[in-house]
Amino acid sequence: MAKYELPALPYRYDALEPHVDKLTMEIHHTKHHNAYVTNLNKLLDENKIETASLEEMMATISKYPVGVRNNGGGHYNHSLFWKLMKQNGTGVPSGELAAAINASFGSFDEFKKLFTAAAVTKFGSGWTWLVLSSGKLVISSTSNHDNPLMDIAEVKGTPVLVIDVWEHAYYLKHQNRRNEFVENWWSLVNWDEAAALYSKG
Ligand code: MN
Repeated sequence: MAKYELPALPYRYDALEPHVDKLTMEIHHTKHHNAYVTNLNKLLDENKIETASLEEMMATISKYPVGVRNNGGGHYNHSLFWKLMKQNGTGVPSGELAAAINASFGSFDEFKKLFTAAAVTKFGSGWTWLVLSSGKLVISSTSNHDNPLMDIAEVKGTPVLVIDVWEHAYYLKHQNRRNEFVENWWSLVNWDEAAALYSKG
């Protein structure tokens, strides 16, 4: 029995145009994310692994086969990434999260500069995160589909914001120009969702 399911996107495939194009969204969701879910279920079946939740699996990921780490992380990270974008993002955070960003990085502009630099320079496939780690907001990047919930992560904590910087996230439209993708992505950030993650963390 398939345990995990591909979540529906909270918007249409063309909703993020012109910042992220419809074809990229469609392939990213129905092919890439879908494959992680399919592979994860297959690996759990084959290895007769019962899991309580995706979050619990992440927290003890060092005990699982590497395929579960890659595909489970892929499923978790993409599910979060979709929710953290929206049509007509507000552009800037507000409330407690805005105050915390200012306190940690000096200003929103400075945070944006540092996060953009981390995302653009992440070598190879991976993700760049804003993480609430031991009560502090920090920027970190992970390789492949690792994430801050994993016990093997260098920076552990609660993810507040994340961008997928795998080539499949932008190559169709921007080819090698990851910086263009990151610049466009800022217009889509769902700061309400980020604020909710921050307040839960
Ligand atoms: Mn991806």
